Amino acid sequence: MREEKRENLRESGWGTRGEARRSVQLVVVGGGLAGAAVIRNLPSPLRRPGATLLIDRNDSYTFAPLIHEVAVGRIHPGSVVSNVSALCRNRCDYLHSEVTELSPETRTLTTTSGPVGYERLVLATGSRAARPPADLVPHLQTFHTLDDALRLRSELNGAWWTALETDRRGDTVPGARTIVIVGGGATGVELSAEIAVLFDYLRKRSRREPAVAPRIVLVEAADRLMGWLDPFFHDAAMRQLFLLGVEVRLGTLVEEATSDSVRVGEEWLPAATKLWTAGIETVSPVSDLGIESDASGRVRVDDHLTLPGHPEVYMLGDASLYKDPGLGPLPPTGSLAVQQGAWVARDLDRWLRGAERRLPFRFSDRGYAVSLGPESAVAEVLGRKLEGAAAQALYRSVLLYFLKSRRDRVLTGADWAMERTIGRLGFERPRNRAAL
Ligand SMILES: Cc1cc2nc3c(=O)[nH]c(=O)nc-3n(C[C@H](O)[C@H](O)[C@H](O)COP(=O)(O)OP(=O)(O)OC[C@H]3O[C@@H](n4cnc5c(N)ncnc54)[C@H](O)[C@@H]3O)c2cc1C
Repeated sequence: MREEKRENLRESGWGTRGEARRSVQLVVVGGGLAGAAVIRNLPSPLRRPGATLLIDRNDSYTFAPLIHEVAVGRIHPGSVVSNVSALCRNRCDYLHSEVTELSPETRTLTTTSGPVGYERLVLATGSRAARPPADLVPHLQTFHTLDDALRLRSELNGAWWTALETDRRGDTVPGARTIVIVGGGATGVELSAEIAVLFDYLRKRSRREPAVAPRIVLVEAADRLMGWLDPFFHDAAMRQLFLLGVEVRLGTLVEEATSDSVRVGEEWLPAATKLWTAGIETVSPVSDLGIESDASGRVRVDDHLTLPGHPEVYMLGDASLYKDPGLGPLPPTGSLAVQQGAWVARDLDRWLRGAERRLPFRFSDRGYAVSLGPESAVAEVLGRKLEGAAAQALYRSVLLYFLKSRRDRVLTGADWAMERTIGRLGFERPRNRAAL
């Protein structure tokens, strides 16, 4: 695979630092959900190396909607990671490089491998986790990447077994098994449900009850969870989180923290693990464009998903803010990113055919699903509201559909199927702690 990629770059001449500006018909920046949907649906004149160039700063892509399951050991990390360059096989050139600047006037991108010119550009650089306020940064972890998920997995495992050991010695550490999650969006809700189920699993597997029961506290500043979704999602999540023993604090701010505790409203809670899952923000070069954007830095695009005044520059996915005529500004979701990518490929086809009329992008709202642990979920699909095991089955099939490759689908499906027999990955009982 690596050899094939090198061959690709050598033939096309891309990727040499200091080289003079090379131009190409179409450049796609970002091989995530939106960028991959463009590449997969390219019209035939653009579907060849030499016509289209994909640039990504990472050669591997992590499917973020499943990382909370990696953090609790239900999915192997390798099952949600795919190779970006593989997207280009026989379809485009691939440049493993970071885009640092965009100059729409000269139609030039500055990359860490030199300048690249384009006729049409698709910017699909996604987002990163919004950082907490400066005072909280040293004490709260964000949750957006595979590294975040693996760090959390090892922290949860360490906290569980260390706390059992100290319980046994009688010197219980306050907050050792308390997890505070700040941000009651879909990520915070999914994560708290998963961690609650994980602790239940670990409790059943250890030979003794912990002296202090694990505690999961989900904190949300607004008065309901997942505020951008129908209130049915909030109601279903509140019911299920209550059953799982998660404490939900609504209308509550987190403004202070130390290394071992956090102030939730007026109360200081000792907590070993403190997570910040509130919001996203765009990354460079999108964040540096200085164009109208929302609080997350998502740049406002028009009906053709292009930059105002630059019909040749498309911006998709989490990087852009699209206002639907009926639904208003749409939140950053995988389903929006994929629909936008496929639509741009059709728009490029119309451009190549010299079509006179340019149709606007319209979002088809097929619904949304949020997992509430392995046995339950809440979903709304084509106007139908679902809760419980049926919603979980639907949630899993949607995610398998969105996963990029057949390999990832098979591996993730196998992880789910094997969970009962092989247990949780990364949460094995330590050998030297046989008495626990
Ligand atoms: C924890 C979590 C859970 C989620 N759960 C769900 C869910 O259940 N359902 C749902 O619909 N959505 C979910 N989402 C949102 C969904 O993952 C995003 O909306 C979607 O990935 C956005 O697609 P994108 O193509 O815009 O960006 P991404 O998929 O993030 O891809 C961006 C790509 O651009 C590349 N890139 C970035 N900057 C540069 C640069 N300067 N130069 C070159 N390359 C660059 C990156 O390496 C990356 O490959 C979740 C997100 C997170 C973080």
